[in-house]
Amino acid sequence: MADHIPFPPWIRKGLATGAQYHKTELLLASHKVDTICTEAKCPNQGECWAKGTATVLILGHTCTRNCPFCSVAHGTPLPPDPSEPERVAELCRELGIQYLVLTSVDRDDLDDGGADQFRDVIHSCRTMNPSMRFEILVPDFKGVQEAALDILNDARPFVFSHNVETVPELYRTARPGGEFQRSLHLLSLAKRKWPDTQVKTSMMLGLGETEEQIRQVLHQLREAGCDRLCLGQYLKPSKESLDVAQFVHPDTFIRWKREAESMGFSWVISEPFARSSYHAET
Ligand code: SF4
Repeated sequence: MADHIPFPPWIRKGLATGAQYHKTELLLASHKVDTICTEAKCPNQGECWAKGTATVLILGHTCTRNCPFCSVAHGTPLPPDPSEPERVAELCRELGIQYLVLTSVDRDDLDDGGADQFRDVIHSCRTMNPSMRFEILVPDFKGVQEAALDILNDARPFVFSHNVETVPELYRTARPGGEFQRSLHLLSLAKRKWPDTQVKTSMMLGLGETEEQIRQVLHQLREAGCDRLCLGQYLKPSKESLDVAQFVHPDTFIRWKREAESMGFSWVISEPFARSSYHAET
């Protein structure tokens, strides 16, 4: 379907350049730290890395699920690496990162869904730099949501983020291993447990959802206590991935931003290239 839709003029992004970009690239490589920027083929990589910002991907780059919208590899991942917390902390020190967005692949193979490693990375970074702030973008912690949040309790982030990704009507095609209600439950659980933490989610537009379905999700998110919202255009990351059903016009993104703010979201980014971690520190 999408192969027949030409890219509209607003889907253009400059290429990476500059000394800071190369410094970011070099330090990531030397500390053997993965990023979702490269694994998910994020179109903002040039812009973010040139500012010394990257979203760190912990727990390996092999996901236990296989969502057709995502380019991250799937299969059987390796056990968590005990040297990872220190490597990430050292990277942040050398890059001067004050606000770290930390994410992981789905780790349904682990008893804690990977929560231990999130906590250990945060502790390690805080030991090196106590003033650092964290945004964690976590999987849905299927079957272990309460236990995972208990583990994270003494590493509470400034922002707790989990992406619903799309409307429930499209889960079967776009996110077959997930359940919309499970994701919603995790967001509401986090807000109830940590009322002072900002709870955030992201959705991709252009997968075939209707405006009414989006609106319905936004209401449900607010009812669940979600404070922050990111809406961006879905872009097919590989030939095998789901097709783009529609390119949403930038003016429509602006309209969604206004509508979401009027519903009570306190922080909204809504533009074609918005991604969960894009301008997250603002
Ligand atoms: S938007 Fe996020 S994932 Fe994309 S390049 Fe920037 S930091 Fe990385």
